[in-house]
Amino acid sequence: KIPVPSDIEISKSCMPKPIDQVAKEVGLFPDEVELYGQTKAKVQLSVLKRLQNQPDGKYVVVTGITPTPLGEGKSTTTVGLVQALGAHLHQNVFACVRQPSQGPTFGIKGGAAGGGYCQVVPMEEFNLHLTGDIHAITAANNLVAAAIDARMFHEQTQSDQALYNRLVPSVNGVRKFSDIQIRRLQKLGINKTDPMALTKEEVNAFVRLDIDPGTITWQRVLDTNDRFLRKITIGQSVTEKGFSRTVIVPFSGMFKKYFEKVMIICLVLRIEQRQELLGGNLNEFISFIHFLQAQFDITVSSEIMAVLALADGLDDMKKRFGRMVVASSKKGQPVTADDLGVTGALAVLMKDTVKPNLMQTLEGTPVFVHAGPFANIAHGNSSVLADKIALKLVGKDGFVVTEAGFGADIGMEKFFNIKCRYSGLRPHVVVLVATVRALKMHGGGPAVTAGVPLPKEYTEENLQLVAKGCSNLNKQIQNARMFGVLVVVAVNAFKTDTKAELALVVQHAKEAGAFDAVECTHWAEGGKGALALARAVQRASQAPSNFKFLYNVELPVVDKIRLIAQQVYGARDIELLPEAQEKVALYTKQGFGNLPICMAKTHLSLSHDPEQKGAPTGFVLPIRDIRASVGAGFLYPLVGTMSTMPGLPTRPCFYDIDLDPVSGEVNGLF
Ligand code: ADP
Repeated sequence: KIPVPSDIEISKSCMPKPIDQVAKEVGLFPDEVELYGQTKAKVQLSVLKRLQNQPDGKYVVVTGITPTPLGEGKSTTTVGLVQALGAHLHQNVFACVRQPSQGPTFGIKGGAAGGGYCQVVPMEEFNLHLTGDIHAITAANNLVAAAIDARMFHEQTQSDQALYNRLVPSVNGVRKFSDIQIRRLQKLGINKTDPMALTKEEVNAFVRLDIDPGTITWQRVLDTNDRFLRKITIGQSVTEKGFSRTVIVPFSGMFKKYFEKVMIICLVLRIEQRQELLGGNLNEFISFIHFLQAQFDITVSSEIMAVLALADGLDDMKKRFGRMVVASSKKGQPVTADDLGVTGALAVLMKDTVKPNLMQTLEGTPVFVHAGPFANIAHGNSSVLADKIALKLVGKDGFVVTEAGFGADIGMEKFFNIKCRYSGLRPHVVVLVATVRALKMHGGGPAVTAGVPLPKEYTEENLQLVAKGCSNLNKQIQNARMFGVLVVVAVNAFKTDTKAELALVVQHAKEAGAFDAVECTHWAEGGKGALALARAVQRASQAPSNFKFLYNVELPVVDKIRLIAQQVYGARDIELLPEAQEKVALYTKQGFGNLPICMAKTHLSLSHDPEQKGAPTGFVLPIRDIRASVGAGFLYPLVGTMSTMPGLPTRPCFYDIDLDPVSGEVNGLF
């Protein structure tokens, strides 16, 4: 149809197949499928065992050039490609995509079900609660946060023996350690199973996690864009025995200046109960105040989400939960979820989330929607489990198309170096999405801003800007080839693009070493607009994969970061700021130096500066700080500041979202 109707109009105009029919078509048995209404189902992991001898299908990853803030169509192309392969070329296919956060759905960006005639349907189900996985992550994450604060509170207010009596209670005169407590004892090097046999020193080591409040890295989460939760003060109730505070006191240096003020406020807030702390260890008091400053992040940035995305089964997920580091002790030892005793409870809260969610595209091909970790502080890829099950279900000649968030320098690099490293899966083809508008931006076109009409450079033919901007396309093609995988460039056509502009991009891509490059019109035409792309992917997938990682995880942390910065981003070197240097030393000492690296960098430039377009070189990449997601299994260097809690604009998407109370229809999503 011309003009192309809105995404939700298209989604509503399609009558999805009952999801149990989709499940049957892909070869699932009824007892492997848990229905959530008519259009969604969870798939049990037992299918992996049943199909263990089945060879995997071809593994295709969709990535993109450095995008404009509007997005260049990776999700749309992922869906378009499977529609072309499945509904038109009659191949076995699966698309594996991330579950979107509800934050952007009600905030600025809208949903993420693809667009035009390439969507996962029903898009309102896709964009809203789905099967509750994100709610489970919120619950699990916040249980850990509550466990940290409660534990610190109890440790500060009770003697060793009182703590021990409560942690290892006497039931009918018998004390017994739980499994998780035995693990903690082993970690402490105490090989005793009789709770009565511990010495005083051992009881002390066992009951006191002795968390250093200034080192807590675990935050509370919520799946709503709520900017006022970016920094909060916790513990305001008198029931927390005067632990409440409303002033921000810097951790060091400035402390003296504020000390008097703090003392007065502390007194008002009945802090006198903590006299011994005030009179005693000043550092402890300072770090305690620091601890009372907390924050909320958006749920999808939680490490729990990253664990779900990388786990390859319930057992592995549980182990990763146990390893998650939430803080350091005052002696500098990592404090884990296992130390808090919360691992089993997390696994219980998360037990259903490991099953991928089955949905379908507008043309009835199957889709797994599973996990949606942040693409900056996490790795931004959908789940390993969904990909693994899908690869078995499509069989040897079938195709699984999975999407990696952001541009190839970020999402694809992490897909290879983190996701494929953990999953053991080897990709066959990279599909690199490029648009004329993004290339014009890289060629020096004016800024592109969401919600503002595009300047005329983008709506009228301008071959010069396109040609100049191809430097970015060229670099991203080299980035994919660096991993030994063939690249097919999908030029996602917009209605304002001219024939000459599209042809120019195709020609540049081929010259830059792409296996093939094709123009695609799937957004406006559905699967048939991606037929040329599908055929190119089929051809590329015949070649043997020469996949290789960019780095060996055994390399020192700094060398791994430098390799990514130089080889993938084009940096001359990296510069570690003091905090980052301290973290390199700390994580190396704590034994986490061998984890892969997950760069938290802007997606709007190959460099750290979003204003630098094209393919900048010669820059020095500043590494501000480094954090660890030990359970998920990566270190994440912060290149600049990363927002982990988006805000709402003046006119958020929710203004247009409405429910028809008579029909029950959802309107206004996009
Ligand atoms: P990404 O996954 O790269 O962020 P999306 O596939 O979500 O990008 O697309 C971003 C937005 O652009 C969506 O609203 C989508 O509907 C729209 N879009 C994608 N391709 C086209 C196209 N060829 N013409 C018009 N709009 C498009």
